[in-house]
Formats: sequence, structure tokens, C-alpha cells
Amino acid sequence: MTAKIIDGKAVAEKLNAETAAKVAAFAKAHGRVPGLAVVLVGEDPASQVYVRNKGRTTAAAGMLSVEHKLPAETGEADVLALVRRLNDDPKIDGILFQLPVPKHINSDRVIDAIDPKKDVDGFHVVNAGRLAVGFDGLFPCTPLGSLVLLDEAGVKLEGAEVVVVGRSNLVGKPIAQLLLRRNATVTVAHSRTRDLGAVCRRADVVIAAVGRPRMIQGDWIKPGAAVIDVGINRIEEGGKNRLVGDVDYDAAVKVAGAITPVPGGVGPMTIACLLRNTLISAERRVSK
Ligand code: NDP
Repeated sequence: MTAKIIDGKAVAEKLNAETAAKVAAFAKAHGRVPGLAVVLVGEDPASQVYVRNKGRTTAAAGMLSVEHKLPAETGEADVLALVRRLNDDPKIDGILFQLPVPKHINSDRVIDAIDPKKDVDGFHVVNAGRLAVGFDGLFPCTPLGSLVLLDEAGVKLEGAEVVVVGRSNLVGKPIAQLLLRRNATVTVAHSRTRDLGAVCRRADVVIAAVGRPRMIQGDWIKPGAAVIDVGINRIEEGGKNRLVGDVDYDAAVKVAGAITPVPGGVGPMTIACLLRNTLISAERRVSK
């Protein structure tokens, strides 16, 4: 058996087209387009690429894209002042503070300063709390994207046994919360979990968000299970630089019922969900 490959690029393009159509309708109704502001401090090369891609995709969806690129030595007080200006700017519906940041800036304090209604990354504690208690809010994009992929692949979540490997605040925990809201039976595994292979083998759905190349083995996957690989790891192999996931894809693809590749799986969904969050934020802000 070979797994169905879940094409994240195609699903993201479809979602972006839906968002663009809704943005056009929003502009017609309200005389302005939703606006996303990205704040980048410093020169981290990966962040520069992400921010460029975000800007391009945001503009392609017909939204206003504003980039604030600040030099690495910018003080925390100046970053906080910028965030407050963006909070008060009526043209801005979403504020994204690009991580990682230089050490002299406390990213928790900056995220805490973002208006939760504009927190399109869903990292503010107010949104984390709203997710945990089952309220509406803005929720993290990579977790949302992972669920969209499961839905698109036709994976039934209600009552399903799901194992999430990883418990970070940015990925593992919010994925687990979203799955609970969908009535899955959720196990969250982490670095202290005993016999991770046995834990994974009982899952109908395995979600890997660890950051360790190919750690999840093919024989940890129950035949026919769905596998969502959130991991993005850069490795040297055969003299080449390669991107691989947290799952041993070549082995897992022979056992799983459906699987996301890396790259081209969860990755493209993150920006697509960011745009959707920005639109949701704009719609809520005009309807209040
Ligand atoms: P973190 O490093 O914050 O968290 C990693 C988690 O994995 C921790 O909970 C840790 O456990 C757990 N872990 C580490 N080693 C093991 C192990 N040997 N066995 C079981 N669990 C282990 O990473 P993130 O959550 O931020 O990211 C995870 C991956 O997802 C990374 O590869 C990252 O690049 C990728 N990513 C992809 C995105 C996308 O757009 N597709 C977006 C964001 C992240 P413990 O808590 O016990 O330390």
C-alpha cells in the first residue's frame, strides 16, 4: 500500500483563492482592504525569506501589506511603541511579530503588547486561553493549517485516536487543543514520553512537531493512519542541503493511509491561514 500524498501547496492555493474572493467582497462593502503589518527586527536570513513571501502572498490576495524592518540594535521600547501604533492604526487588522528576535528583546513582552484582536499569529495568552476554553479567537496558523489538510484528505477526527508529538506553545499544544475541539481523543507526547513508538502505533492520526529529522519511524505508523509532518529540518545529505520532516517519509509512505510531504505539506498552509486570520480579524473589527 502507498499512502495518499496530501498536497499542501494545492490546498493552500485553493484557500488563498477563497480568501482573495472574500477580500474583494470586504473591500466592496467597507471601502478598504484588510491590512497585515509584519514587524521584523534584525537580519535573520530565514526570517527575511519568510517576511518577503508573506508580503508577496498578502498583496496577491488583494490585502494591504506593511513591512516594518528594524535594525538588529533597535531597543525593546521602540518595538513596543511601534506595536502600540499598529494597535491604534485603523488600516491594520493583523500584526505579526516575526520570531526569532535579537536576545535583548523579550519576545513574550512584545507579543503581550499586541492587541489580541489583531494577534493573527494567535500567540497572545488571551487567544491561547480562548482556544483552551472553547471561545472564538485568533488561533495559530500552522496548527490551523494542519487541521485543514486533515479535513481536505477526508480524515475523520471525531472519536479518532490522535497522537501529537511535541508540546510547544506555538505548535504542539494549540494543535492538541484544536483536535480536542473536534472531538478527537488526543495524546500529547514529548521528550519524556516512554516508548514513543508504541504510543504512535496506536494512533489513527500522527502529528509530528518535534524538530528532529526523520525521528518518527515507518514501523511506528499504524497501517492506514494519517500522518501530518510539521517538522522542517535542514540537513546535509550526499553533499547537498535538503529539507526533511520529522517523519521518515520513505518508510512511512509505504504504511500510512495519507501523509504530508516536506516540503510541500504543512509549510504552505501557514501563510494561507495567516491571510485567512487577517481577513477574519478585519471582518470582526468592522462588525463590532
Ligand atoms: P520546539 O523545539 O519548541 O518543540 C519541540 C517539541 O518536541 C518539544 O515539546 C519537545 O519536548 C519535543 N521533543 C524534542 N525531542 C523529542 C524526542 N526525542 N521525543 C519526543 N519529543 C521530543 O519546536 P516547535 O514546536 O516550534 O517546532 C517543531 C517543528 O515544527 C520544527 O521542525 C519546526 O521547524 C517546525 N515548524 C514548522 C512550521 C511550518 O510552517 N510548517 C511552523 C513552526 C514550526 P519537550 O517539551 O519535552 O522538550
